[in-house]
Amino acid sequence: MQFIRSINTNSNAMQDPHMTPNTEEVATHWLVDAGLRPTRQRLALAELLVGDGKHRHVTAESLFDAAKSKGTAVSLATVYNTLRAFCDAGVLQEITVDGSKSYFDTNTHDHPHYFWEDGNRVTDAPSDQLVIQRLPDAPEGMEIASVDVVIRLRKV
Ligand SMILES: [Zn+2]
Repeated sequence: MQFIRSINTNSNAMQDPHMTPNTEEVATHWLVDAGLRPTRQRLALAELLVGDGKHRHVTAESLFDAAKSKGTAVSLATVYNTLRAFCDAGVLQEITVDGSKSYFDTNTHDHPHYFWEDGNRVTDAPSDQLVIQRLPDAPEGMEIASVDVVIRLRKV
């Protein structure tokens, strides 16, 4: 009796992933499309980043905390290196604030950001309200690769 009950419990546990059928699939496609091998750790982090199909801004620390609370065994260094690999593959955009704080954005299209100084977080700013009228000429032999707009916010 006890034995049968434990088998039933196991089979229920195995059906659990079907409650969220898409996150792993979405994450796998995201990695493979970027030419990245879907290793277990990459997959776990990719699920946290894009599994629900929504864009988000993370730091290595916040993603590390999210992974830990999901029970994923991963080090902060691995999270950081994985985020770098995702950036190199072009599926994440790095937003640097103060030259030292790095935020990673799953939305890789050009768009402005708010940096909330009191909360140390980054969110999207409305891009339809941004107008850049003129940029300085690029130095001889150079071209402008991109323009990062980070609007710093503080309480009035
Ligand atoms: Zn963004």
